[in-house]
Amino acid sequence: MGIRIDQLDYDGNNTKFLESVIEKLGKKNSRNILYRASEQESLERILKHGTDRGGFSGKKSWGYSELLSKELLHEDVIFATTEAEIRYGEQNLEFQTSLKKFSLIERPLLLVYDSSYFIKVKEKQYAFKNPKTKHESLIAVFTVTKLKTSPEKNLYVVTGAHDCGKTATLEFLRGVYGYNIQKEAASLALDDLGSKKLGHDPCMPLKKIYGKRHICPVCTPLKFAKLALKKQKELEKLASEGSLLERGYVDIIEFYTRHNKTKDLKHDKFADYANVFLLEVMPSLQEPKWGKSKQERTEEARRINDRLLKMYTAEGFNVSFIPAGSVEERAKRIHERISKNL
Ligand SMILES: [Zn+2]
Repeated sequence: MGIRIDQLDYDGNNTKFLESVIEKLGKKNSRNILYRASEQESLERILKHGTDRGGFSGKKSWGYSELLSKELLHEDVIFATTEAEIRYGEQNLEFQTSLKKFSLIERPLLLVYDSSYFIKVKEKQYAFKNPKTKHESLIAVFTVTKLKTSPEKNLYVVTGAHDCGKTATLEFLRGVYGYNIQKEAASLALDDLGSKKLGHDPCMPLKKIYGKRHICPVCTPLKFAKLALKKQKELEKLASEGSLLERGYVDIIEFYTRHNKTKDLKHDKFADYANVFLLEVMPSLQEPKWGKSKQERTEEARRINDRLLKMYTAEGFNVSFIPAGSVEERAKRIHERISKNL
């Protein structure tokens, strides 16, 4: 049976791409599969040898496998990930998967192997049970066409729960690296509300205020979310190329859905953010507020960050995790990722 060669478009959304692969393979056939990223330049070699590691002169050693109690050849082992690992990787930034490699390959290929032909020798590394039948293990090859997804302009989001260091980091990026910064839409919306938002004491637990004129994120969540989204849209329209936004529209939805069961807050299309930087919670920056201790505020912030990661990822954005550190270190990390287009 010949190897099936097919083509698929790729817009940078790995989950969506995975679904389209599974659809092409057929649900039944998509079980027990290993996915491997490769390059279109290697297609001929792959079709001839069953792997992009085959057909080279000389014997390169992979190393000794404790499991198989023998020395393995480099060409007899592949790096690959399963469907479950690819899905896990979309929720966990540090976990590498085959699909995440596409961003580094100009003209990618996706190799689809039948896992029953392999023995797992190491995390994400699989040895061919019978190196002579490599061809048979290769079910399909997809040539991957990367779509130009660059939006009209590149906008970056810097986000994270309360007191994560967003403002200080952004100010540093503006002052030292010269970025244009956009203030948080929700806080601009609060500014616009003037006296309408007043009445809450930050030292006390939040209590709802029932007044006709009173509008705030807690007492009138839907009304406020709509105002904030409108603001977000305006500022994204006005923001210049390469601007950094303090929070994006997903933050507004996160806040709105945090305490309300309501899932869908209807919104039009927002900017296709070039990257979303999520700042890790630093307990040292947290302060007691709304009747909650420093410890409680820290734990709450961590839960919010988990939600932000999930929600931005689900919207198809690339989320870059910015670990705890000094303002300079974090700003430098963000600047490097932007300038290297990571
Ligand atoms: Zn209120």
